[in-house]
Amino acid sequence: MKNLSKELISRIEKIATPIKIMHVCGSHEHTIMENGLRTLLPPEVEVIAGPGCPVCCVPAREIDEALELLDKGVTIATFGDMLRVPGSNSSLNDAKAEGADVRIVYGINNGVEIAKKLDNEVVFIAAGFETTAPTTASEILAEPPENFSILSSHRMIPPALEFLIESGETSLNALIEPGHVGTIIGTKPFEIFSNKYGIPQAMAGFNPLDVLMAVYMILRQCKNGEAKIDNEYNRAVKTEGNVKAQEVIDEVFEVKSREWRGFPKIPNSILEIKKEFNEFNAREKFDIEVKNVENEPNGCICGPILRGIAKPEDCKLFRKTCNPANPVGACMVSKEGTCNIAHRYGLH
Ligand code: SF4
Repeated sequence: MKNLSKELISRIEKIATPIKIMHVCGSHEHTIMENGLRTLLPPEVEVIAGPGCPVCCVPAREIDEALELLDKGVTIATFGDMLRVPGSNSSLNDAKAEGADVRIVYGINNGVEIAKKLDNEVVFIAAGFETTAPTTASEILAEPPENFSILSSHRMIPPALEFLIESGETSLNALIEPGHVGTIIGTKPFEIFSNKYGIPQAMAGFNPLDVLMAVYMILRQCKNGEAKIDNEYNRAVKTEGNVKAQEVIDEVFEVKSREWRGFPKIPNSILEIKKEFNEFNAREKFDIEVKNVENEPNGCICGPILRGIAKPEDCKLFRKTCNPANPVGACMVSKEGTCNIAHRYGLH
């Protein structure tokens, strides 16, 4: 492994060119920081983090929706990380401390189990990218109990990338694509970024050699004057992806436009439950309406960090008032958040 990484780094050095490569995956950021990969790369090869942490991308509005549901007496079931993600004025953790019924679960199936045991209405917050959407869809198709519904926070990576590229704000030259999203949607939805915008890409797995190989493949494309998507993670990702999982997603969800944390409304970027499953859509079932959304806590720069134009160390609160024990912003909450990772492994 050591010899392989040395060999890869030596190959990278030979063809290095000034480049800004964005990845969009908390696991990639974790691998990069845990193994100090940025320090091994030539200085002209910059690897930056984009909107890769699903919990971080959930905007304040969707936390506010869950808080409104709690006000209506509903039980909320969600992943532990979601409890500390800030809404406009408070979090699910704050609500729980005041007596609201918030249950931590490890998956949607635990939420269904809770609903089976309670008379109360139970809403599961379904957050995640394309990777987790098939599980949510399958659970809805399995006809959960009547007192169970979903607040969908599922988001799709390619529309966010198109938004970033079109905005020009990040000035990225290349992309490392997230392998776990690729296992579901394949490499095809990413081809547009090479074909339309001339961006070299590599679909990558999650160990240090995967990431280094992806960087090498991108630089090799640059050297050869190419722009395409190389599939470094072909042991798990097929060009067409997992067609069955895609069919399940299409059966249950429709694509809609909505804001992400740090982003305005991104066209066609979220998965909402289709009308025929309205009985399982908490937004329809409970008629929730959130107003006056405040997107970031004072001083937090999660938005620019998620758009790849700022780093955790640019934030005045980083490692001071904001840390994993007391996160101020969403990027410090989850172990996949850029600020949380930087806090644990050092600066970029
Ligand atoms: Fe937000 Fe904390 Fe990151 Fe600053 S360090 S950007 S407050 S999450």
